[in-house]
Amino acid sequence: MARKVLVLGEVRDGSLRNVSFEAIAAAKTVAEGGEVVGVLIGDAVSALGTELYQYGADKVIAVEDEKLKNYTPDGYSQALLAVLDSEKPEGLILGHTAMGKDLAPKIAAKLGSGLISDAIAVEAAGGNLVFTRPIYSGKAFEKKFITDGLIFATIRPNNIAPLEKNEAASGTVAAVTVEIKDLRTIVKEVVRKASEGVDLSEAKVVIAGGRGVKSADGFEPLKELAKVLGGAVGASRGACDADYCDYSLQIGQTGKVVTPDLYIACGISGAIQHLAGMSNSKVIVAINKDPEANIFKVADYGIVGDLFEVVPLLTEEFKKL
Ligand code: FAD
Repeated sequence: MARKVLVLGEVRDGSLRNVSFEAIAAAKTVAEGGEVVGVLIGDAVSALGTELYQYGADKVIAVEDEKLKNYTPDGYSQALLAVLDSEKPEGLILGHTAMGKDLAPKIAAKLGSGLISDAIAVEAAGGNLVFTRPIYSGKAFEKKFITDGLIFATIRPNNIAPLEKNEAASGTVAAVTVEIKDLRTIVKEVVRKASEGVDLSEAKVVIAGGRGVKSADGFEPLKELAKVLGGAVGASRGACDADYCDYSLQIGQTGKVVTPDLYIACGISGAIQHLAGMSNSKVIVAINKDPEANIFKVADYGIVGDLFEVVPLLTEEFKKL
């Protein structure tokens, strides 16, 4: 059954986040040959429409208003609800990002619809669109489908491959005017922590440090390796609690969930709460001087050794490639 499916293109610092393209790929499956409509919300975002076309959108709509310059739950839900009202799609896909996690339940509640959150795959099976999502901190997976009404899901970044980019694709961006009113929150200023390099939640390579790095300076060899591999640095809560790094780097049940192609855990014991944030990584390498460390149970490759010897050796070898 061909469906119309909307995808929210998530904009950060003037660029589309990769999860927007992954959402288009998921929407193509849900659309089953129907139309995938990219939706852009912001104050000057329509120029990003071309990239949505290049990743497979069939149509792009932009809601522009200076009140939408920064994400606010009221502003974005008003804009998205207005588009849903005019487009009347059968499906809606958002990224399971900080914004998606906030916005999707609000939209679902307003519409009285169901929501499958944090999906890592979607397939058409047995006449239904079956979404797979991790449960119990990634120890099990459940398969869910919506039987009635809007097929609404958020997808975890880095799990559903985007379609191949077609540089030649382009199209018009339809402007939709929505009166944004009664905002209960207004963003007055965005203060960013200085973050180095690649965004942790979308990184293809993550080098994570635990209490075993022993100090803030102990993260330096990890940063060097991350730089050589074009990756991001992450951390266990042990390292954050010890003040070796900022909590924005924390990976795990109460931190970020990452699914990179390569995850290198350095001096991390592998507590269940940490595994909840990284065990779905495609290849896991663990470096730990304790051969009994739990992290080796989920690792594809384990190196028993001192991270301060092993990490610089890896960096030197990768530099040669
Ligand atoms: P440790 O457990 O102390 O492990 C350090 C490891 O480093 C050891 O295995 C040691 O052998 C190794 N090591 C030491 N020196 C070296 C060296 N020179 N070279 C190589 N290896 C070395 N944790 C998270 O990470 N993320 C979460 O989101 C999270 N949420 C939590 C939520 C709750 C409700 C609770 C109760 C806990 C949570 N935790 C979380 C904490 C978690 O239980 C662990 O305490 C934490 O993950 C331990 O961090 P760690 O592995 O860095 O430290």
